[in-house]
Amino acid sequence: MPKDHQPNRCGVILIRYGEIALKGQNRGYFERQLVENLGDVLDGDFGADIRRRQGRIFVELEEGADTDEALQRLRRVFGVVSVSPASRVPLDDDDIARAAVDIARRARRLHQRTSPRTPFTFKIDARRANKGFHLTSPEINRWLGAEVLRSIDDIEVDVHDPTLRLQVEIRDNYAYLTGEVLDGPGGLPAGSSGTALGLLSGGIDSPVACWHMMKRGLRMEAVHFYTPPFTGPRSHQKVRDLAQKLARWGNGFTLHMYHFTEIQQAIDNYCPERLRLTVMRRMMLRAAESLADRRSILALVTGESLGQVASQTLHNLQATTAVLRRPVLRPLVGMDKQQIVETAKAIGTYDTSTLPYDDCCTLFVPKHPKTQPSLKEVDKAEEQLPVEQLLSKKEVDTERFDSRGRPLE
Ligand code: ATP
Ligand code: MG
Repeated sequence: MPKDHQPNRCGVILIRYGEIALKGQNRGYFERQLVENLGDVLDGDFGADIRRRQGRIFVELEEGADTDEALQRLRRVFGVVSVSPASRVPLDDDDIARAAVDIARRARRLHQRTSPRTPFTFKIDARRANKGFHLTSPEINRWLGAEVLRSIDDIEVDVHDPTLRLQVEIRDNYAYLTGEVLDGPGGLPAGSSGTALGLLSGGIDSPVACWHMMKRGLRMEAVHFYTPPFTGPRSHQKVRDLAQKLARWGNGFTLHMYHFTEIQQAIDNYCPERLRLTVMRRMMLRAAESLADRRSILALVTGESLGQVASQTLHNLQATTAVLRRPVLRPLVGMDKQQIVETAKAIGTYDTSTLPYDDCCTLFVPKHPKTQPSLKEVDKAEEQLPVEQLLSKKEVDTERFDSRGRPLE
């Protein structure tokens, strides 16, 4: 009986992950976290079935699902090295050959539209995870290569730099074929390294810093210090927007808005002008630490980069860190501004960060802050400041966003 032209084929997304596969005994833990995070971003929208098998994750979508939208969401998840839309066919020679020819034909059509003057070349790249299959990988390459050459005109083989690299994976029950590989961000699945508390200003740097740490598997919460009435609702909204953008990368995000006006005014009243910036940083970090204490969070994250501004000299970093019992992670410490700006653009926070609304730092910063204060000087500058009393009165509003950036109750 002639075979149906659309054999039992199904839309599947194949996900490759790298580093977490190397984690030895913890591998299962990282993989489970990754699968959970993938499920979070799909959010029940595609009737998706997610399974991991032999170092890959397969996401099967229900019929009619928007594959492109699913691909776009999945390729943002940390831990994902690449994603491919794939055809899944039964382990039947005719079905596999037909799927390979179909993919090559579609790719060639697209190529003719986009670069009609250059020749269209291909290579078959087979991987036989199922050793029971009757052909070896090199045999599959030769067989399918010949099938494609026989079925399509104006097509050549190029094993070094082909236009189409048609990947074929032979697995236990099915073969998976794909001609497209979309990069993911790599890194580790959010949540697999624990939780940290970022200090999130409305600037360019701190959202990028949070993003880098999410990429290393941290789930992030952030605190923003605001100083009403000196800062208005628009700067508040700006930080919320940044948190929502980060939530989409990090499988959710928690934002704490910390009312900082009283502390800021006390610093202005009790501390010598040239050291106010350093003291303000200390107070922010102390306040963040007390929040982290209550939430059992082990580390803080800032967007500081060595030497970028007066408060980010080695002296000031020492003075601010000296009052803490937690590590302050500073992923940008060795980066140039240009690098940070490029990342901000790539991750989608730049346009929000450059909106012109004031941050408390810009409003209260002295004209000539001291760049090399000694620890002794800074301690002395705080002598009159009722540190404990100020920290005890914290007023914090907390808001949570889900993995699509939507506010949660
Ligand atoms: P950014 O671009 O992140 O604002 P910046 O280059 O403006 O950084 P600073 O203003 O010195 O540098 O701030 C250094 C770090 O202190 C910031 O990256 C951020 O982590 C933290 N920070 C500054 N202002 C605030 C704020 N209002 N609320 C929370 N954290 C803040
Ligand atoms: Mg700033």
